[in-house]
Amino acid sequence: MEEVAKYVDEMDVTVHGATPEIHDAFNGVKGSYEHVMNNIKEYAKVKSEEQAICAVINVMPHTINNMERIMLNTALELDGQLDSFVIQRIAPSGRASGNQFFIQPLDVNKVMEVFKRLKDENGFNYEFCDVFPYCSIKPEYRDMLPKGGCNWGTEVCAVFSDGSVKRCAMGSSELTNMADLDTPEKFQEFWNNNPELQAYRKKYHLDEKCQRCEMLDDCGGACTMSRFYGDPYAKKNLDKNGRPRTGHDVLAME
Ligand code: SF4
Repeated sequence: MEEVAKYVDEMDVTVHGATPEIHDAFNGVKGSYEHVMNNIKEYAKVKSEEQAICAVINVMPHTINNMERIMLNTALELDGQLDSFVIQRIAPSGRASGNQFFIQPLDVNKVMEVFKRLKDENGFNYEFCDVFPYCSIKPEYRDMLPKGGCNWGTEVCAVFSDGSVKRCAMGSSELTNMADLDTPEKFQEFWNNNPELQAYRKKYHLDEKCQRCEMLDDCGGACTMSRFYGDPYAKKNLDKNGRPRTGHDVLAME
């Protein structure tokens, strides 16, 4: 751990349930909760002040009514070592395709109420990795949300262990491979000119409702991936001119 810790800015662990048993059952791997928590505790011993530890919490049907317990138990387990919670949804991609992990619009403010209370009472910090539609969140909870929308494709992108690069970690299309970007100039050329990145930044994937919305600058059109048909930039969703299918986040209010 000591050897690799110096290369890591932040170590994140996804917690799938309020108890080790629920987490292991969801993962399908017995002992996975204990294993990952032990690794985090080892990292905590060797990391510097600047390096962070975060717990990723997926908001999905089987966690939505249990959020408070999951978060309090995680904070307790990590005993003061946790810097923040990363909140995200599961988009219909890969093994999660279909809408089995979608939450309902009515549940969103229930869970925001829990986040706000735990923030006020326990000092919990949040990073919203997945942008929630502003129109689905009550005004009193909106100050917890990031402003400007999703930053996958504007500030960060996903690089996988085989070198493949995608705009979003849940995205369908492989844009390039890091092995082909072996100089800063090549990376810069890719980052500035890749067609999917350019289209995403111009928000070609948003429908008229979002394009005309007065909250678009803050909301950014919410999550690009959380649509009933998945990634608008997936090959199957591109028209003959390479334009993405337009739409909006499943939680966006009518
Ligand atoms: S931009 Fe779209 S998702 Fe965001 S608040 Fe407006 S209508 Fe809702």
